[in-house]
Amino acid sequence: MEILESRLLARFPHGFTTRAGGVSPPPWDGLNLGDRVGDDPAAVAENWRRLAARTGLAFARVRQVHGVRVVVAAGEDALPAVEADAIVSRRPGLAACVSVADCVPVLLADPVSGGVAAVHAGWRGTLAGAAAAAVRALSRETGTAPARLLAAIGPSIGPCCYEVSPELAGQFEASLGAGVVRGGAGRPRLDLWAANEAALRGAGLRAVEILGRCTACERERFFSHRRDGGRTGRMAAFAAPPAISPAGPVP
Ligand SMILES: [Zn+2]
Repeated sequence: MEILESRLLARFPHGFTTRAGGVSPPPWDGLNLGDRVGDDPAAVAENWRRLAARTGLAFARVRQVHGVRVVVAAGEDALPAVEADAIVSRRPGLAACVSVADCVPVLLADPVSGGVAAVHAGWRGTLAGAAAAAVRALSRETGTAPARLLAAIGPSIGPCCYEVSPELAGQFEASLGAGVVRGGAGRPRLDLWAANEAALRGAGLRAVEILGRCTACERERFFSHRRDGGRTGRMAAFAAPPAISPAGPVP
């Protein structure tokens, strides 16, 4: 199993899964963590079991609907019914978790309280302000100012590959600035990493890391909804409050 990590979130149990280490057959090979993509439920359950064994975490999840609703995790949720696109956890060992295959996963962590959040932000969620909504929710839950929160923007379809219509590019430029659109006027490409970074900084964050890995470019490593024509698996992005204070013992 290969799990990518953020340097900024090093004190928190967290990660971004890849295809490696699972039991699903093609086209979901191998570590597919998506429940609603046509894969055998027994294979998906085994993949989750392996991730839990590897990390020692339980996973609080939501049913993602490309919106901006944030929920606070009450406990583990193997087959989530609650519709939302971000989840907050304050319980050590319980990971806030979202699933993606091109959409942007954003992990937030509060080094003061140990609280965390995971956000699912495709173009709809990015434009609607999903990351900023999660910042406000985590800050409200923990009492920590957004300026002290840490964020990691994980693997997703990158500005190298994400062609969109000129109309959608125009909406993003108007909302988040010219820096979030690349390419010529005829075939613009969206930079969802820059868009979410701009949204996070606009919400008050100072520390934002972009992993800069494109799901469409790295076929062996990532599922990509667009590249694979919709028949593909899902990766998970997760973060959990640490068992001891993230600030560590006072020396
Ligand atoms: Zn790419």
